[in-house]
Amino acid sequence: MYSNRINILGQVHLNPFNSSYLNEYSFSGIAIIILLILFTIIIDTRQCSGSGSIVAACSKQFQSVSRTTWPDVHQTSTSTNPQTLSVTNLHKTVVDTSVASSSSTQSQNTLNARETDSFFNNIGQRSIDALTDYKNKQESGGCGLENLGHSCYINSALQCICHIRPFVEIILNLPEQQLLQLPPITSAYRRLLIEMQSILKGSTSAHEVKICISELNRRFAGTDEQDSHEFLAVLIEALHDELMTNYQNSSIGDLMHGTLRSTVKCFACEKETNTDDSFLSLPLPIHRSAAAIFGFDTVKNIFANSMALFGFGIQTDSTLYGCFENLLAEEQLGANGQWFCNTCQKPTDAIKKLDLYQLPRVLILQLKRFTYDLTDDTKITTKIHVEEVLNLGRFVKKDDVDQSTIYDLVAVMAHTGTLTSGHYTTFARHLNNPDWYHYNDWHVHRASFSDAVASDTYVLVYERQH
Ligand SMILES: [Zn+2]
Repeated sequence: MYSNRINILGQVHLNPFNSSYLNEYSFSGIAIIILLILFTIIIDTRQCSGSGSIVAACSKQFQSVSRTTWPDVHQTSTSTNPQTLSVTNLHKTVVDTSVASSSSTQSQNTLNARETDSFFNNIGQRSIDALTDYKNKQESGGCGLENLGHSCYINSALQCICHIRPFVEIILNLPEQQLLQLPPITSAYRRLLIEMQSILKGSTSAHEVKICISELNRRFAGTDEQDSHEFLAVLIEALHDELMTNYQNSSIGDLMHGTLRSTVKCFACEKETNTDDSFLSLPLPIHRSAAAIFGFDTVKNIFANSMALFGFGIQTDSTLYGCFENLLAEEQLGANGQWFCNTCQKPTDAIKKLDLYQLPRVLILQLKRFTYDLTDDTKITTKIHVEEVLNLGRFVKKDDVDQSTIYDLVAVMAHTGTLTSGHYTTFARHLNNPDWYHYNDWHVHRASFSDAVASDTYVLVYERQH
């Protein structure tokens, strides 16, 4: 049994479970406390119910303030801004009232929960908006370009170079003193680039760039369809020339110019002569199969598939490496034109060989699908197997290769249709994520690497790995 005890100092230890103690001292006190609690509940219930409740009023007032002065909420409570102070106090009131009402009925709890949710929803609205913007940015392929009338060749070329990160960085990060008076083409292209980067979804017009390039080369003045690779080359060289002429800025040339070495060996004296030539893009020959020449592609493919069933592999497509071999293959100089040998001092038979000597950081490849001559104007539709990661190590002549020969594909210019009636589009890897997108004038859609290389690829843009 529990009982009150007296220690040696005469102090009394009260046992709360002693029934006589409760009866004598606490009964009336407990009754008073219960009455106070009931009184508090009644007051809170009246405050939190009805359309004019304090919580509702606080939430509404906070909503209206938080939307316009959100940054002030994060200021310290010692701020002298009355609006800030009122926001801080309102916040405290809402939270305190919510806690006090936790002992109320279920309906009151539901009401408070809803209003408190509304309060926190407002707090998080800006964060949600920011996340939505980020998500949209991730899913958006960027800005399309309006067709100005047979201008798909311009749009396709622009989308290619607008997805070459180091090229874009050169234009956007021009020194401040150069920005004060930019030459016309650089100025027009830079304005377009900035506008394209600011449009996450939608399109704009490349009209100003077209006008500037047309003044440089009248071929691009009208509305006739032109070669997109040619426009691409003219634009890049024009930007390079303007920066070199006005500011001695060779950034674009340093980035995109490579070197081809031509070696000619005289059959008579066996002396070798080397000549180096700079290139902006490499033209890669495509060898047409006999079936393709005579229009028997379908028959050829059926035959190849049938042979594959019996375990015999027939290569019906060409590879990109094969195109390099075509370009760099040895060529006999004799019957079609002899070589004038400086040692022999006379025309002689010789053998000519091209090699990659200096690879640029950005490598542009042109698949020579279009043939223009007196007897045959046509488009070669041979499918080329394109590598997403390209290693050109075995094609480089230079012994002391001190830079990587491995490249990543970043953009593909595609051409559908025929030589006389076709359409250019561009597939490109997004600058801010690894996803591929298809840029078809003002239409921009998510695509894949497989989509990009499944088409009639015409121009390929690679960036060297670091
Ligand atoms: Zn010779």
